[in-house]
Amino acid sequence: MAEATTTVAPGPRARVQAMKEYHPPLGSREAMRLDFNENTLECSPKVRETLAQISAGALTRYPEREPVEAIVAAHLGLRAEQVALTNGVDEAIHVLFETFLEADNELLLPVPTYTMYEVYASATDARVVAVQAGDDLQFPFDRLAAAIGPRTKVIAIANPNSPSGSVATRAQLLELARRAPQAVLLVDEAYFHFHGETLIDLVGTLPNLFVARTFSKAYGLAGLRLGLLAGPEELMRWVRRVLSPYSVNSLALACLPPALEDAPYLDWYVGEVLAARAEFEAALDAAGVRRWPSRANFILVEIGAQHAEFVRRMRAAGVLVRDRSSDPGCDGRVRITIGTREQMRQAVAALNEALAALRAEGGK
Ligand code: PMP
Repeated sequence: MAEATTTVAPGPRARVQAMKEYHPPLGSREAMRLDFNENTLECSPKVRETLAQISAGALTRYPEREPVEAIVAAHLGLRAEQVALTNGVDEAIHVLFETFLEADNELLLPVPTYTMYEVYASATDARVVAVQAGDDLQFPFDRLAAAIGPRTKVIAIANPNSPSGSVATRAQLLELARRAPQAVLLVDEAYFHFHGETLIDLVGTLPNLFVARTFSKAYGLAGLRLGLLAGPEELMRWVRRVLSPYSVNSLALACLPPALEDAPYLDWYVGEVLAARAEFEAALDAAGVRRWPSRANFILVEIGAQHAEFVRRMRAAGVLVRDRSSDPGCDGRVRITIGTREQMRQAVAALNEALAALRAEGGK
């Protein structure tokens, strides 16, 4: 007898079917990149030299992450068992959620915030509890703390936050960790270098604290995909069961030690961005553009109803910026990455022209 055939295609989980598509607008970025909060120049020359020395033979081997985890742990004042390298912080978020979130659990987060928390929550069957920040976009500590319940299993806080640039204080974060002992607190310090405050010193001291860091921003290595997750050794053991042993490739692993060693490069780049941020803030104020205080390498600005046209005009002038209008509570707002002072002076010229054109159009 012929085998039965079926025309029914396999379907994804209901939760996956309900997911929104997330397409970061990465096409045609041959312009000034003030849209993804990357380093807008280049990585350390020491990293470049290391890459140039990698042999074809070296690429035949599987990557070995442990020795490099020991180096980065020592750099952060932690033990190797407390640190896992990941394929960007995105993978850190993904594995942490997969490790801890079950179907009747809740992921608690303030919004607006980094999009991928909700995306990776959808890879689990947990519910997302989003606490909306007020118009000032400050960290909504009181309402977040009030939303903690017995089902809260992960609390995810980007500190500084994106797209607002706002921060939570150390005391607030400690209080959240204390009030939700059944939950994991993820403090995502992707923009740490531009803020300077961290909870990494408390890793291993607090039983439920995880801290994530990336090499995609200040270090200028977004293309290599390198991040890390630090947490208590007992819990990191579970995370490691979920984490692929090969997800950090050998080029990224080779580049990490020289990136860490080249502190002068990092200090220079961060110093440049902070100086540029102050100049850019003054320029926004002079132009009468509302902005939110930022401790990161970007600033959220209010453009209003003409936000899409503003982004288009900036692009036409060679400057890419990111429309955040679809983020909760961000209608009419655009996020602008801070580069060097020279780049930001060009950006200011483009911004003033775009605003003048929009005002002229609006006044027609
Ligand atoms: N966390 C936050 C708050 C971010 O803004 C980003 C990148 N935009 C990430 C994590 C992801 O970083 P990575 O490139 O290391 O995956």
